[in-house]
Amino acid sequence: STLKHFQMGETIFSEGDLGDWAYIIESGRVEVAVSIDGQPFPLGILTSGDVLGEMAAMDTAPRSASAKALEETVCVTISSRQISERVQDADPVVKLLLNTLLHRMRSTPQVTSSPPLLIPPERSPQLPDEDDQVLDKMRLESELRDALSNQQLRPHYQPLVHIKTCQILGFEALIRWFSPTRGHVSPGEFTSIAEETSLIIPIGQHTIQQACRDLVQFQTLCPDRQLFMSINVAPRQLAEDRFLTDLQTVLHRYNLQPAQIKLEVTERVFMEDPIALEMLQSCRQAGFQVALDDFGTGFSSLNYLTRFEVDGFKIDRAFVQEILTNRRTQILLESMLTMAHGLGMQTVVEGIETPEQLQVLQQSGCDIGQGYLFGKPLPFREIQQLLAQ
Ligand code: C2E
Ligand code: CA
Ligand code: CA
Ligand code: CA
Repeated sequence: STLKHFQMGETIFSEGDLGDWAYIIESGRVEVAVSIDGQPFPLGILTSGDVLGEMAAMDTAPRSASAKALEETVCVTISSRQISERVQDADPVVKLLLNTLLHRMRSTPQVTSSPPLLIPPERSPQLPDEDDQVLDKMRLESELRDALSNQQLRPHYQPLVHIKTCQILGFEALIRWFSPTRGHVSPGEFTSIAEETSLIIPIGQHTIQQACRDLVQFQTLCPDRQLFMSINVAPRQLAEDRFLTDLQTVLHRYNLQPAQIKLEVTERVFMEDPIALEMLQSCRQAGFQVALDDFGTGFSSLNYLTRFEVDGFKIDRAFVQEILTNRRTQILLESMLTMAHGLGMQTVVEGIETPEQLQVLQQSGCDIGQGYLFGKPLPFREIQQLLAQ
């Protein structure tokens, strides 16, 4: 698990070990030492809020020092994978500087005669808040890794309804995390952290698996029409070779049709990895639907639509919020709907909260509505009850 407890005198790691983990000290004191001619030389003492073991976790070389708990000590563990992925994704200049620095530190000959070096605190005193935020993010990421293996992540489902009849046509799977220590963590916050590393891949796989399994149950309560499930997919997930075959395996297991799955992607997919876009194309060819999420909020130009076909747009909540008060917003929203229909695409409008907003949208010719007016994201059982009514 994320937290590791060490007794007084216990070794945290030894010189020469492989650096699988780095540690953030939550409480206690740790002595870092190197051995010179078989004699241990203490380099310094680290305490709460300090990071240790990060070097070997960054470059996967053996540990150049040992660490021992001086008293009962609690640490948050950070996997070297978590760290090396961030190093890989860093700005190329930063990456080069970091590699140079690591190399130089590793190749400095051990001081044999001079007195031992004391490690000064590594935290920059000018930017404590920024450093704290970075540490918090690393902690959250570590906890998230545990949450996945402890079954703390579950999707909720929000109804997607026919705008004219308000009949439920499908659902969007929206992941939820209830952490025993943090309580409810906002999905906007933790999904963006997960998307920065490969953690989103097992999380996404888990969500797809649960959403498909639950869709089968919802479908049995709705024999008169075919329901669909919208699933949010990050570019990093699509960059995996196995994405499509994994998806098809799950579909096959639950005996679902590809047309029942709608992959929601944001415009980022057009700007990041070209491999992800190829994968998206293969998914469409295999019969899955693709929708552009948060449409109208990005900064990219529309020209990607000349090269890449999608099945639908999801127009962001920001437009609906102002539809009754801002004439310009209303015109923009109507133009997006016209454009989508001209391109033969289906439109979903997100964030409908009031009957007045619904009324305007019903006249604007959008296809599908989503929002608190029709239903909040709800757990599996509550959706079952809703459909059974
Ligand atoms: P999103 O994909 O744009 O999801 C729509 C968000 O709008 C959801 O927030 C939903 O609860 C909220 N929403 C829907 N109707 C209304 C409304 O009428 N009023 C208001 N105020 N909000 C409404 P949520 O569940 O907090 O999710 C936030 C974001 O987290 C999502 O934005 C999506 O980007 C990400 N996310 C959630 N689940 C997943 C997932 O399984 N995978 C990935 N990669 N990202 C996910
Ligand atoms: Ca979405
Ligand atoms: Ca959205
Ligand atoms: Ca969003």
